[in-house]
Amino acid sequence: MLTIRYEKTTSPKPLPTPENPLTFGTIFTDHMFIMDYEEGKGWYDPRVVPYAPVTLEPSAMVFHYGQEMFEGLKAYKTEDGRTLLFRPDENAKRAYKTNERLCIPTIPVEDFLQAIQAVVKVDEAWIPTKPGTSLYIRPFIIATDPFLGVRPSYTYKFMIILSPVGAYYPEGLNPVKIWIEDEYVRAVRGGLGEVKAGANYVASLKAQVKAHEEGYSQVLWLDGVERKYIEEVGAMNIFFKIDGKVVTPVLTGSILPGVTRKSCIELCKDWGYPVEERRISADELFEAAQNGSLEEVWGTGTAAVVSPVGHLRKGEQVLQIGDGGIGPVSQKLYDTITGIQLGKLEGPEGWVVEVV
Ligand SMILES: *Cc1c(COP(=O)(O)O)cnc(C)c1O
Repeated sequence: MLTIRYEKTTSPKPLPTPENPLTFGTIFTDHMFIMDYEEGKGWYDPRVVPYAPVTLEPSAMVFHYGQEMFEGLKAYKTEDGRTLLFRPDENAKRAYKTNERLCIPTIPVEDFLQAIQAVVKVDEAWIPTKPGTSLYIRPFIIATDPFLGVRPSYTYKFMIILSPVGAYYPEGLNPVKIWIEDEYVRAVRGGLGEVKAGANYVASLKAQVKAHEEGYSQVLWLDGVERKYIEEVGAMNIFFKIDGKVVTPVLTGSILPGVTRKSCIELCKDWGYPVEERRISADELFEAAQNGSLEEVWGTGTAAVVSPVGHLRKGEQVLQIGDGGIGPVSQKLYDTITGIQLGKLEGPEGWVVEVV
């Protein structure tokens, strides 16, 4: 249990007006959470303070060797004015594992959740209410030792910032075009792929730029060893509906275990679909498309929840999925998960947590 101190802003910013469409991750609320770490002392001085720049030594280790982790989740406003978080315990548990992998001191799951609750509560008025909007929560930790040697840092800063966000796809659930990358790789088993580290995103930029130049919105990664098996898309996990079955790549150690992924698997099983977590190659996918058994493709992640995929390209091979709309299972998953997040539908036990 943290004893959090509060220092409220004396110059609150104007709240975004509902008329101005919100973009993703460009504006930030009045406050942030900070907690420091020092070897021998542990995590200390948890506080909610005005959102402001932080001062670091240019020699701070995060700048040189990238010892950094992050998380991402959202808070939603219900029609009756309650604030809900979607499975935040899953993020707290994943953060714990990420810290272990990155040699960052862990934060107890209860403390991580308490920190999120504390800062969201203070800036509750910033949660937008228009359909598709929410408050994006970004917890992260950076290594702050002023030292150029390579070793885990002895000091860290844990921060949580908040950003009101609009619908990830302002045009609605239109299918996206995905580029299957066969030159660069994102992660390998034994590396950082299964944890949320900024380093994974640096590794992904080159291919993302290439895909954008070709007119594609995101990259689909293949496994880093055989470059055959499908792993995931940018910041989303990927699902296929093939011959009535829901198929998603099994977590082999280089894929990020998404909370949305887990939720989709649980819901699909609940609805009686056969769900297969297994290796699936790009070849199998193209074959399924050819023989007509590929029914739907969609990505899953906190930002967009469910993102239908309408077009895939690998080298010169192009694959068109469906008729340019969203498939029935993708639509049902989207409606169900967003319904639960907004408190309109009853979800499985423990999926929503109220901020009090
Ligand atoms: C965060 C993330 C996801 C999605 O995870 P969610 O918990 O569903 O938001 C998928 N892939 C990568 C690489 C990610 O960083």
